[in-house]
Amino acid sequence: MLKIGITGNIGSGKTTVSKVFEILGVPVFYADDAAKKVMTHDPLLVGQLINAFGAGSFFSDGALNRKHIADIVFKDEAQLQLLNSLVHPAVFRAFNQWVANIKNVPYVLKEAALLFESDSYKMCDQTILVTAPLELRINRVMQRDGLQRADILNRENKQFTEEKKKTLANFIIKNDDTELVIPQVLELHDVFRSLSH
Ligand code: ATP
Repeated sequence: MLKIGITGNIGSGKTTVSKVFEILGVPVFYADDAAKKVMTHDPLLVGQLINAFGAGSFFSDGALNRKHIADIVFKDEAQLQLLNSLVHPAVFRAFNQWVANIKNVPYVLKEAALLFESDSYKMCDQTILVTAPLELRINRVMQRDGLQRADILNRENKQFTEEKKKTLANFIIKNDDTELVIPQVLELHDVFRSLSH
């Protein structure tokens, strides 16, 4: 079974494209959702977070005290790196457990915003980059989340550029309103099914 990474910059439509693969019966692991879940569900990580950031990282009912952690990591780049270095392996553990329970499919997708930045693409057999021009992506996210342009650009600037990602990806899906997405997905679906044989 192949593991295919799928990514794209903010507003590129990677989640939307992943849902099209899901309609074809392809299991999709959403790494960014998993990253939130492991912070309260992975016992090893919970212990590591308490060691690193103190008991105040969790409320007495076990819920994550996001503000406590955010106050520490957004003031100090080294603490942010420490947080990432703890969360990424926990997401890998969750992904591997998830994969272990999937049978009889030629391939699965791992959708992750920072697939390339986090190096997790190296654990994938192939990668897909979903692309769209910056202005279109900004408009989509403004409509979806009601965010200001500056906030979106701030997030965009924390990611590798689309140009850089194009050099790292094996396949590209253009989601820029000039090409239909579904035929591109169907073509890759055939490619991955052939590769898995
Ligand atoms: P983020 O990184 O911000 O989570 P994303 O890359 O996962 O974004 P989506 O959430 O899939 O992007 O898409 C962003 C917004 O644009 C959504 O509201 C989605 O419905 C819309 N969108 C994506 N692709 C298209 C398209 N081809 N046509 C119309 N709307 C689209």
